[in-house]
Amino acid sequence: MTKEDEKVIPVRVVMRCRPLVSKEINEGCQCCLTFVPGEPQVIVGNDKAFTYDYVFDPTTEQEEVFNTAVSPLLSGLFRGYNATVLAYGQTGSGKTFSMGGTYTSEQENESTVGVIPRVIRRIFQEKSKCADCEFLLVVSYLEIYNEEILDLLCTSKDKPIISIREDPKDGIKIVGLTEKEVFTAHEMVGCLELGNSARTVGSTAMNAASSRSHAIFTISLEQRRKGDKSDVMVSKLHLVDLAGSERQKKTKAEGDRLKEGISINRGLLSLGNVISALGDESKKGSFVPYRDSKLTRLLQDSLGGNSHTLMIACVSPADSNIEETINTLRYADRARKIKNKPILNVDPRAVEMKRLRQQVQELQVMLLHARGGVAPVLTGSEPAENVSNILEQNRCLQGENSKLSRELSEAVGQTALMFERIIMMEQINEKLQSKLEELRQHAACKVDLQKMVETLEDQELKENIEVIRNLQQLILELQTVSNSVCLSEAATEMCADPQAKDSPEAYTAQHALRQAQMSKELIELNNVLALKEAFVKKMCQNDHHLEPMQTEYQENIQSLQASVGSLQKEKEDLIQALQSAKKDTNQAKLSEQRRKRLQELEGQITELKKKLQDQSKLLKLKESSVRSLAKLNQEIQAMKSQRVQLMRQMKEDSEKFRLWKQKKDKEVLQLKEKDRKRQYEMLKLERDFQKQASVLRRKTEEAAAANKRLKDALQKRSEVAEKRKEVQNRGAEGVSSRIKNWLLNEVEVLVSTEEARRHLQDLLEDRKMLAEEISQLRQQMEAGERPVAKVRRRTLTIAELEGQGELEASISKQVESLETEMGLRSAQIADLQQKVLDADNDGRIKQRWDSITTIVEAKSALKILMAEVVASKVANAKLESELKQEKANLLDMQKILCDERKLMSSMDMEHQSQLVEMEQRHQEKVCFHKSSS
Ligand code: ADP
Ligand code: MG
Repeated sequence: MTKEDEKVIPVRVVMRCRPLVSKEINEGCQCCLTFVPGEPQVIVGNDKAFTYDYVFDPTTEQEEVFNTAVSPLLSGLFRGYNATVLAYGQTGSGKTFSMGGTYTSEQENESTVGVIPRVIRRIFQEKSKCADCEFLLVVSYLEIYNEEILDLLCTSKDKPIISIREDPKDGIKIVGLTEKEVFTAHEMVGCLELGNSARTVGSTAMNAASSRSHAIFTISLEQRRKGDKSDVMVSKLHLVDLAGSERQKKTKAEGDRLKEGISINRGLLSLGNVISALGDESKKGSFVPYRDSKLTRLLQDSLGGNSHTLMIACVSPADSNIEETINTLRYADRARKIKNKPILNVDPRAVEMKRLRQQVQELQVMLLHARGGVAPVLTGSEPAENVSNILEQNRCLQGENSKLSRELSEAVGQTALMFERIIMMEQINEKLQSKLEELRQHAACKVDLQKMVETLEDQELKENIEVIRNLQQLILELQTVSNSVCLSEAATEMCADPQAKDSPEAYTAQHALRQAQMSKELIELNNVLALKEAFVKKMCQNDHHLEPMQTEYQENIQSLQASVGSLQKEKEDLIQALQSAKKDTNQAKLSEQRRKRLQELEGQITELKKKLQDQSKLLKLKESSVRSLAKLNQEIQAMKSQRVQLMRQMKEDSEKFRLWKQKKDKEVLQLKEKDRKRQYEMLKLERDFQKQASVLRRKTEEAAAANKRLKDALQKRSEVAEKRKEVQNRGAEGVSSRIKNWLLNEVEVLVSTEEARRHLQDLLEDRKMLAEEISQLRQQMEAGERPVAKVRRRTLTIAELEGQGELEASISKQVESLETEMGLRSAQIADLQQKVLDADNDGRIKQRWDSITTIVEAKSALKILMAEVVASKVANAKLESELKQEKANLLDMQKILCDERKLMSSMDMEHQSQLVEMEQRHQEKVCFHKSSS
């Protein structure tokens, strides 16, 4: 380090850009910064370039930031120079992240730890290297909030009042602040953690408060050579996490918040003023307003004073933050122009000795360097090329990878579909097979019946054959009926999809089948009954024929038996007579006569006996027929009761069905009603969407118009500037018109710039909305759901909604169109931002007032401005009264609309209830008709 360098060194400024955070990505933000490889340069928009000492792009790790930017300060610290690290930037740009302001000791080994923990680690490493020095390390941690200093290391409740003193010898002193002596890195980290937690506890919403407060972590290092009391060196390191630099109007602060905002602005504002005063060459030597705020007072030594200072300007790359980013970059650019004069902090008595000693040391170091040579410095271009190559390859691979995974997911989807189909086919197959089985059973039944017929044929009397024929006919009929029923059953089941088992259609079909089955049974029963009854009747008739025969027979039998008895008697008499006659031979002739008579009688008797037998046989036959008749009658009775039961069952069943049907119909009605309501809602949504779309379109058109206006204004401005040069010296009467031209144009530029800003904001909002919608649609697509009615739809029509089958395709189409729209917005945003950048230029703002150089010019400018103000105020007042009128009109219209709506809804309700009633009546009629038929 040469003597000249020691005297004046600029504040070092690094710019650090964080990556897009997920919120920004979700809102569809684009990166608006370009980094020049190998150069510490960043380009905003198309051509606005800023150069700093270092520029860290989003890929830069914490370690690199520390090693390249912070580490040199630490070497200075150990050599006795004060050092300060300031993190500047809007809220959310990465200040706390870069500084390590949320560090806890658990994160010790993580690569994301920020500057402060790394500084602590380094300090203790250096300390352990210097064996011949004694170190005294003291830390303090404070926060400036609302222009008040809060001691973050003071844990007691009644904190002492803290004030700032300026000591001509020691510089700035903070009286009443806790200064903790620490011996180990662990202790120092403990202080950091304590302070961080106090910051958190001190406010309900950490981020809200931390974005409005400045946090300063100070390490003071006292070095003393062992055994040499005079050789004392004290150096201080401030590590500052500044409040968010965003402009206050953006956060819409009010009341207390506004007061708070103003005080914070006081800190950052005076910091800005200090930086301007120090950085502006033309204001050299003028007053620097350090005393305007606590922050600048505390940092007085670090800015333009006795310190090596590093500013880390943190920015977000998102185009939605472009204005704040530009502000930060400008601020940082000014800071770079500050020149500091760091000096060693040593005891004045020992200064001379120290200086000499250091000279010797430095000479020794130089000698060492001269002997050993200097280590080569890496140039960044070659590795950068390599890196870009690798990045390119990586990108290619990633592209392929995503393509492959897309294909894979498609294949998986198809396989799943196939599986589903296979399962469905199997189910249908099973059903068919069971049907087949049933049909087979029916066929077997038929065979059985035929067998039965055959046996009956054998058993029953021949006269029953006709009955059997009838039965056969019946069976045939029944079979055809049952076949057709089975077929229709199978058909209904096949048609119905597997989940529809419990569906109303299935239930109705089941009911119909049941009814058909039962009526079939009934017919069968009736037929059989009729046959049996006919049979019984016939038998009864036979019986009637038999009855007289029976009595006749019985009488016959009796007479026969009587005659058999008389004949027997006669026979016995004759035998006796014969025997007595044997003794009397004279009576031989008579006995011969008697013998003959006997024979005759015997013959008669046998004949009569035979007749008797026949008669009893007949009687037996009659008895058996009576028995079978009784059996038949019994059967008939049983069948009759069965028939009654069946009929009752049928009735019950149809009653049940009727009730069920009624319920279902009611449900259907309700569903219909719901559907109608949904359709109405959808229509409303559609209408809303149309409205939204037209608003969007209008906004876009307006933005385009604003863009054009701004462009024209800029064009005119440059023309005016040209002209001005020409007519510069053309006398006083030219002055007025020239000034007027210029001024009005200037106003036009300003107004259109503001307009453009407003439209820019609108466009950013729109893009956010579009991005949200896209992500919602994507989620739906992934989940394979139907679109929820709540989702705001931009391009979906009802017709599309109804075609659920093409839903996926339509969603992806929508996503595509939304993406195109988003791309369009992004392009428009970039374009408009570029214009605003051109218009809102530092140089131009300064130039603006330079063009008024004389009182005459100033007076005419004022006149013009006055006229403009009056005109615009008058116009404003007129517009306001018109607005009032329109508002009143609107209110009237709304009232009318409200009344109409009420009327309509009451009519609608009436209509609905009528509809429901009619529908119910109709259903009842249908049911009645059915049951009666
Ligand atoms: P600030 O303190 O400026 O308000 P933070 O440091 O809290 O902002 O950062 C805001 C968010 O951005 C945090 O979630 C933080 O993790 C993230 N972030 C900031 N800088 C980086 C970076 N360089 N790399 C990754 N994430 C970062
Ligand atoms: Mg922060």
